[in-house]
Amino acid sequence: MIDLYHIGLTVETSTGQQKIYVIVSTMTMNLQARAGVFNMTQHNGLYSCIFCEEPGLVVKVGKGHTRCFPYREEKPKCRSSISIEQNVLSAIEAKKPVYGFFGRSIIKHLPFIDFHESCTVDYMHGFLLGITKKLLSLWIAGSSYQKPYFIGHNLKDIDKILTADFSQIPRKIEFRSFLLFYALPCLKDFLPGNYLEHFACLIEATFLLLQEKITPRDIKRAELLLDTFYKCSKPLYGDAICGLNVHNISHIIKLVEDWGPLWTFSCFSLKSIHGKGNVSGEVYWAVHSEKIIENEVKQLTDGKVKQLLQNILRHNRISSNDNYEIGDQCYVMKPLVKVLNIEESLKEQISDLLNTTVDHLQTLSFFKAAKIRRNNFVFYSQSCGKVKQRNSYTVLLHKEYKACDIVQIQYFLQIKEKRKTFAVGNGFMRVAKVLHGRGPSIQKIDLRRQNLVIQTSLLEEHVVYMEVNKQQIVGRFPNFVEKD
Ligand SMILES: [Zn+2]
Repeated sequence: MIDLYHIGLTVETSTGQQKIYVIVSTMTMNLQARAGVFNMTQHNGLYSCIFCEEPGLVVKVGKGHTRCFPYREEKPKCRSSISIEQNVLSAIEAKKPVYGFFGRSIIKHLPFIDFHESCTVDYMHGFLLGITKKLLSLWIAGSSYQKPYFIGHNLKDIDKILTADFSQIPRKIEFRSFLLFYALPCLKDFLPGNYLEHFACLIEATFLLLQEKITPRDIKRAELLLDTFYKCSKPLYGDAICGLNVHNISHIIKLVEDWGPLWTFSCFSLKSIHGKGNVSGEVYWAVHSEKIIENEVKQLTDGKVKQLLQNILRHNRISSNDNYEIGDQCYVMKPLVKVLNIEESLKEQISDLLNTTVDHLQTLSFFKAAKIRRNNFVFYSQSCGKVKQRNSYTVLLHKEYKACDIVQIQYFLQIKEKRKTFAVGNGFMRVAKVLHGRGPSIQKIDLRRQNLVIQTSLLEEHVVYMEVNKQQIVGRFPNFVEKD
């Protein structure tokens, strides 16, 4: 890495030789690896936080002991480059750990590294495999039988809701889906209110910090939620819950302010962004900046400027080789199926949208498509043979249309002469949060209109669809960058 920084490497490109220099700007790793790399005490040791000088407390758990990091109104002193250097030198001289450091870290040899500021907290290991997994274990473990949060006797009922077996500890990505989408609807009728409210703080904060665009208001809200989560963890679950993963919550906001959304420094791999190619090697700020511009452009009023900016942003993203353009910037990859008879219930809506008469429709040619590609998304419909998951064809609308803001698409309809494409399906409206005042990304929906015909320009993004106790619920994705 030192050679790559000082000497760099030369690559041949279409425009000639290019010199590339590499710098390590930030690091993400789990707690065990972090202790090793930084030459520090392990996560359950004295002064094991890399960001502050919190010593922690040893508390009794069952027959053993563990270190916890209790919530403090007055925050512990933050580490600085100077204090770390002093601690390391003292540790080398004293030949014993000082403020958590055994000695110099191998990372210190890298240029431009200030490691307490370059180190991040991976939400996959911290929020998911750390906190969420720990809470799940507590809720269902036999040893929690007499605790108010024990829901082990409800596992069969919860299993009916979740497709995956709740009693089996899920894998990493399932923890993410559980936290972001399924936890609130599934636990709502089982976990006592104060425990549910507490967990909902983590759910909402994670969603906010995982977005593609995070506003100062989001940051403020997430900070409050995480502070509440940390503060209430001990009263609800006891000292032992406040391990280093929970303590790291108190540092996460600064990391997001410094480095961007949680996904930019997580150990989850990123999928290709809207068909652009694998972005794992791309500089994440470039990605983040692009997302901010995309969102800003969406807010502009319709007109030439908006269209121009959208065209620039869309440039090179949609391959024209495999896609057949069917109007409204929609593309299909397979031949369309001709429709001989349009359903009566659709005719009036179609003629309204085309600004023509019902009689005139007879002169037009209609074709069905199972899936389309638009706005850098592939939108599926129920008529698509391979579609199994309902979230593939449940879509949030860009704005409310005929008292609906969610549609479950049955098929797409193209009108050749008009170069128009419509989605046909059932329209729903988001009516209430699953938990009052918490988690606005997860909402109950009501069916409002069957056989709704809708312009494809209104299709915004996929959502997760769930049915819990006969209640229909949707959950929004915080971003479309992470791999599912
Ligand atoms: Zn700390």
